[in-house]
Amino acid sequence: MSRARLLPLVAAALFATGCEPAHRGTALFSRVLPADCGAVSEGEAWISNTQIGTVGIAMPEGAVSIQARVWTDDGGETLISAFRRPDGSAAFDSQSWIGDPDQLTMAWLASPKDTVFDWPIRAVDGTLFGGVWGLEIASTNAVSGFIGTNVHVALTTRCSSTASTLPVTVALADGLADDPDNYPVIEDAIVDWGQLYASWGIALAVSEVTADMDSPLPLSDAAGDAYAQVYGESGAVGVLLVLGDTVDEPGVGGVDFSVPGALGPLPDAACIVGWRDVSGHDGPLLPSDRRSLAAVMAHEVGHYMGLEHPVEDTFDQFDALDDTPRCDSADGCLSALGSNLMYGQPETPLGEDLTPEQIAVLHNWPGLE
Ligand SMILES: [Zn+2]
Repeated sequence: MSRARLLPLVAAALFATGCEPAHRGTALFSRVLPADCGAVSEGEAWISNTQIGTVGIAMPEGAVSIQARVWTDDGGETLISAFRRPDGSAAFDSQSWIGDPDQLTMAWLASPKDTVFDWPIRAVDGTLFGGVWGLEIASTNAVSGFIGTNVHVALTTRCSSTASTLPVTVALADGLADDPDNYPVIEDAIVDWGQLYASWGIALAVSEVTADMDSPLPLSDAAGDAYAQVYGESGAVGVLLVLGDTVDEPGVGGVDFSVPGALGPLPDAACIVGWRDVSGHDGPLLPSDRRSLAAVMAHEVGHYMGLEHPVEDTFDQFDALDDTPRCDSADGCLSALGSNLMYGQPETPLGEDLTPEQIAVLHNWPGLE
């Protein structure tokens, strides 16, 4: 079950140059944004072509986790290169993550559209506390390398440490809502998905809407703003999961466009799932398919909330968690990880387990209410 992975220009450039932040340990913020509990703060800041600019974040006491989304209007690709505590020390440093086989990016994904950064994601990341933190941002393009540009920053701040409800909107595409054969099994699968998440202490709050969209459900680059349009027109809340006949990638039942996913009605802010990959392509969903379909939905939304595959299909890249087993072969990884929900190898049914650290990633997600 795949999710989009991009090797961003700017990440590669930073890794190659080993460039140092321009304002390390200083208070030369180009802008300070408030991080208001339970609210979204938006602002703009000029990032110069001296490679990295720092936007201050006035963190309130009691903040539990944040999501920062960064983008430009001129096609520049952005990267959050570091996130610094008020004393200038790095809570997050992209250079320690890029290229490390044990550090698949669960905290952020850079892309030409949006860079989404969630923090913290693990217990080892420490906690947020009051003060002005520094979000270091670089932007580049394919023509001139590092560029000076205006960046937009949207901050979502969660302050409730007991938040455990995940709002989800399931958009039924392709006439599924009126499909007498498949719709009942889909309903049951959503119930099973909710029970899985409940077993990890997360309550799904599911809204169902219909989406005027045909299958195969388009992949991100081909979709343009299609999913943002679904989100907006349907009045969706929380994570958007679009369910249709198939997704436009052979042999794949589900796709999440970004790990982690962005909060709000945005391009790429969706998971898509094709039920026919679960039913075997030769007929309607059967009652026996409900658990499999539930696992695909749980897996894709797990990506959206920041979970990576514990091992990639090259068996040499791993997630950043300490309690997901390491393995180096198809047989060994199937044995060690086959029961895990996030073990997303092709042609392998998904398991239904998560490790304690995987569950903790879900509980840190800034979109919980
Ligand atoms: Zn996957």
